[in-house]
Amino acid sequence: MARETKEQKQKSREFDKLKENLKLRFVSTAHLMYGREIKDLTENEVYQTVAATAKQFISDNWIKTNKTYAERQEKQIYYFSIEFLLGRLLKSNLINLGIEEAVKEVLEDFDLSLVKTFDEEPDAGLGNGGLGRLAACFIDSMAAHRLPGHGCSIRYQYGLFEQKIIEGNQVEIPDNWLKNGFAWEYRKPDKAIDVKFNGNAYMKKMPDGRLKLVYENPMTVMAVPYDVPIVGYHNNTVNTLRLWNAEVNRDFSDYGRLTQEQMRQKNEYRNFVESITRYLYPDDSTYDGRRLRLIQEYFFVSAGVQSIVRHYKKVGMDIHDFAQKIAIHINDTHPALCVAELMRILVDEEGLEWNEAWAITKNTIAYTNHTIMPEALEKWPIDMFKPLLPRIYMIIDEINRRWLIDVRDRYPNNEQKVHELSIIQDGMVHMARLSIVGSHSVNGVAKIHTDILKSTTLHDFYEYNPRMFNNKTNGITHRRWLMGANPELSDLIDATIGSRRWHRHPEQLDLLNDYVEDKPFLEKLGAIKHLRKEGLAKYVKEHNGIDVDPDSIFDIQVKRIHSYKRQLMNILHIMYQYHKLKTDSDFDMLPTTYFFGGKAAPGYYIAKETIRLINAVADKVNNDASIKGKIKVVFIENFGVSIGEIVYPAADVSEQISTASKEASGTGNMKFMMNGAITLGTLDGANVEIREAVGGDANCVIFGLKAEEVLNYYATGTYSAWDEYNTNENVRLVVNQLTDGTYGNFQSLSDYLIRANDEFFILKDFNAYADAHVEIMKRYQKRFQWLKSSAINIANSGVFSSDRTIDEYANEIWQVKPVMIP
Ligand SMILES: *Cc1c(COP(=O)(O)O)cnc(C)c1O
Repeated sequence: MARETKEQKQKSREFDKLKENLKLRFVSTAHLMYGREIKDLTENEVYQTVAATAKQFISDNWIKTNKTYAERQEKQIYYFSIEFLLGRLLKSNLINLGIEEAVKEVLEDFDLSLVKTFDEEPDAGLGNGGLGRLAACFIDSMAAHRLPGHGCSIRYQYGLFEQKIIEGNQVEIPDNWLKNGFAWEYRKPDKAIDVKFNGNAYMKKMPDGRLKLVYENPMTVMAVPYDVPIVGYHNNTVNTLRLWNAEVNRDFSDYGRLTQEQMRQKNEYRNFVESITRYLYPDDSTYDGRRLRLIQEYFFVSAGVQSIVRHYKKVGMDIHDFAQKIAIHINDTHPALCVAELMRILVDEEGLEWNEAWAITKNTIAYTNHTIMPEALEKWPIDMFKPLLPRIYMIIDEINRRWLIDVRDRYPNNEQKVHELSIIQDGMVHMARLSIVGSHSVNGVAKIHTDILKSTTLHDFYEYNPRMFNNKTNGITHRRWLMGANPELSDLIDATIGSRRWHRHPEQLDLLNDYVEDKPFLEKLGAIKHLRKEGLAKYVKEHNGIDVDPDSIFDIQVKRIHSYKRQLMNILHIMYQYHKLKTDSDFDMLPTTYFFGGKAAPGYYIAKETIRLINAVADKVNNDASIKGKIKVVFIENFGVSIGEIVYPAADVSEQISTASKEASGTGNMKFMMNGAITLGTLDGANVEIREAVGGDANCVIFGLKAEEVLNYYATGTYSAWDEYNTNENVRLVVNQLTDGTYGNFQSLSDYLIRANDEFFILKDFNAYADAHVEIMKRYQKRFQWLKSSAINIANSGVFSSDRTIDEYANEIWQVKPVMIP
């Protein structure tokens, strides 16, 4: 006891010293930045001052980290992703630095609230959804595990639009997230890179007989990096997320005497440049304004790869060893041009022979596929590609020429194979094919997804080289999605298992399995869930003006609005329940609040109509006193990372109802599970592995068509929505209600389901989905059993930490080891 007191005394002395230090820095930072005393700061100034104070703790370690990596010539990982959906950084940085409590107390001494200060930070919405959030979780996990891993992306001036719901419709407002500055970025103008577009490229014979590249009249754009420190968890590692901004060339302001034509060209150039990094594309599966998207892709790839090579040489390493010291990862195909750009640099600029350059490129690059939907695989018309990127096109053409020699060698007289495998085919450049041919590893993001890639989408490539295919099931950072978003639950876990080791080793959450029948623990778990539900209810009251009952079942579907995710099936089922309540006196249900949230791409009509329907149903149902509050429907506006931190922990039921085979992995499913929600889902993506992890159907509710059945229907074309409509009275009821005026006119949705033959099998799965809800309610009534299930979900969620995912990437793809920063 005495020794413990001594240790505690030591700890509290250190804590007081930290607080003292923080306080001094806080005050002097406010003086420096605003010339004000703390008490006179505005709320935003308080936020900026706290962030700037935290940055002082970060920057020492950032410098040390970079120095260590360079001096020890450690292998570096560069994770290229066209999106990083970071959300806010203040809280996660304070948690990772281990100073959250001390900062909170310092602010309290000034009568300020840290929680309120968090809310001053805008979300860095540099992404659409799952793919971008995955990238954000990955850089967090790399830093946590002391891996030398960095992000590379674009500094979009406008993130994904801000969503408002006006009279039931989605309205898009530009997301000017930079208007008060971005506290965490460091502009590095001295590290700018030239990126070249357009012009003429050709090979010229030199006097010595060698061919040399000539690239005439390119349009040069200056790429300026903005670096964001990525803070490791309770270690000294600080890695870098490098975001590229497009700016006019250095000599732009060199006016001199210009003709009208030269002036016009100059303005055109400026408009071109300024458009490159202005907007994030609002659709992650189909593309509008396609050419600009291609420009964005080459822009950040070229700047990123050039800066890697420049830094590599600067620290004194040999270009021939590049693949031993650098791993480049491409997150989906948007950065696929890394393959051609690295070849360009190695051949044109470093003077390597093609074969050696190719070996280096393949050994450096690895690729993650995120989709099996063939229509969502990126390809570019040659007519668009070649004039824009003439040298890059030449290189891809040469890569393909050599590749097809191998293919024909392997499959003589089989032009069908050539057709399936050729990077350039039918006037298009196929980015997934370029990514596979130019890398040493291809991975899917959940077991079932990887299996489908092998058996269908990428089957011919799998057959050519099965060994390069592997699975890396996605994950989420438990630091943000459990410790940060649900501190009371985090504390309860600490207290219950008597250890905080799971903070670093999330697989140790499984120690909770010893307590899943422990009544006092389950009571506390239930109380914390209730607390989170009250928090969401309060948020909804403030933002939607709707009263919801925290004692009702909270059934939540939050994610991008997309046909394959089937929000439409969810709302049709609510229409069905409502109808039964009104017309069938034998029908009963537990009071349930259904939450939806998510953005629809602005040009995606069916998705927007789905939002309108959800709001129309909400309007009717929420205002019908006769159903005694048995159903409430809430559409949460502007769903994003920070709202997600309120929403995920508040769920009883996690809706994961995509058409089997369509959701590559999903990560929202993992956030819900880790916070104790029960999954109601199809056997799709990581749901399959969630079911395995919780020990089967006792602790999740699975329904609907299997992937095999879905793929079989597609292959044979034997599904008929019309037959389903005619033979299933529940289906007929709700489809008719789309157009009979019950909720207004939703002819488009009715046509989508019947005339367009319901491409995602909503009608086919409808009854099974309704039965699954009956099963949920049956289970929810047995409170002890339900809480036990909830606890089992939490206890077995450790495997879905992105720390596990990243370890697998590091060991099996990148071959990198952790580096201790002194
Ligand atoms: C996790 C997350 C997603 C991905 O959700 P899915 O359910 O996997 O589609 C999308 N948006 C945000 C803001 C997220 O945090």
